[in-house]
Amino acid sequence: MGAAPLTCADAIAAAIAIQGPIPVAHFMAAANRHYYTTRDPLGVAGDFTTAPEISQMFGELVGLWLADLWLRAGKPDVHYVELGPGRGTLAADALRAMRSAGLEPPVHLVETSPALREQQLKRCPGAVFHDDVDSLPDDRPLLIVANEFFDALPVRQLVRAANGWRERHVAWANPVFVPVASGPPLDDILPQELREAPPGSIIETSPASAAIARRIGHRLATQRGAALIIDYGYEGPAIGDTLQAVRAHGFANPFEEPGERDLTAHVDLATLAEAARAEGASSFGPVDQGAWLERMGIGARAERLSAGAPARCDEIAAAVARLTAPDQMGRLFKALALTAPDWPQPARFEG
Ligand code: SAH
Repeated sequence: MGAAPLTCADAIAAAIAIQGPIPVAHFMAAANRHYYTTRDPLGVAGDFTTAPEISQMFGELVGLWLADLWLRAGKPDVHYVELGPGRGTLAADALRAMRSAGLEPPVHLVETSPALREQQLKRCPGAVFHDDVDSLPDDRPLLIVANEFFDALPVRQLVRAANGWRERHVAWANPVFVPVASGPPLDDILPQELREAPPGSIIETSPASAAIARRIGHRLATQRGAALIIDYGYEGPAIGDTLQAVRAHGFANPFEEPGERDLTAHVDLATLAEAARAEGASSFGPVDQGAWLERMGIGARAERLSAGAPARCDEIAAAVARLTAPDQMGRLFKALALTAPDWPQPARFEG
């Protein structure tokens, strides 16, 4: 009889046994690497649903927004790039809408999961895959889309312990993982207004996300193009623990069963914008997803779809509500636009 295979939890517990508690960011990175490489997490049978899986209207409006910018930029040859494309649904819908405007760019997908790459290739035949943004082509402007990508990247958490701010780590208290404050004091790196927060307060930062935003900003400033980043987010830095686990469409303890649950954190869109601007890109927004979709004409698009398929009228109206209503995805999710400094201003980001 062979030994039972090592689970992701076993591997993390072993690492902690050797080196002591690990930063939350390392725990999150290891858990999500395992999670995304071993399954398709999307859809009714999976753990969560995203905007492009709710309705084709989402990807179509993203495609129209990109096509509008491209037309006003003088129709240059471009590459379409998507970060973390999931099942490839958004890309397929956006590319279809772009085609109707005469835009048919080569497709580049930044994706680490073999299971999801397989799905993406079915919907986007001929797509070129990349492990990260560094290998993207540098010969043309890039039209970049990232929906619910940054929320899966690791966050560091700082926690106000009794003796000051420390980094939040994960310890192994067999048989469970528990968060602990550990490491040297960090008070001196925090803005004064956050230092005096009550014990137990948590601040998150995502160096991995900021690093990618910087590289996108650099590409846009040097190669031209634009990026649309949509995620559930806030304009930080702020106090708050947003690390969460989702399994089978419900919330779960983020420290249980690493690698079997989707770990996400809210995205600090202001910090992403700042990182891109530091490299010379321009930023617009963030604006609420609901407001942006309405300004992009989701109402009119829904009417046209319903007219063509009266039996689906209720389903289409429900999808619009889910994507735009303030108590559903409309306000929690936000859109941030980044552009080359000499590109036209993106549509529907005013105000
Ligand atoms: N954008 C899709 C899927 C969101 S789920 C949608 O809206 O439906 C997150 C996506 O990011 C998945 O495709 C996942 O495999 C990918 N992903 C997560 N971490 C990644 C990483 N470090 N590098 C590249 N892709 C990653």
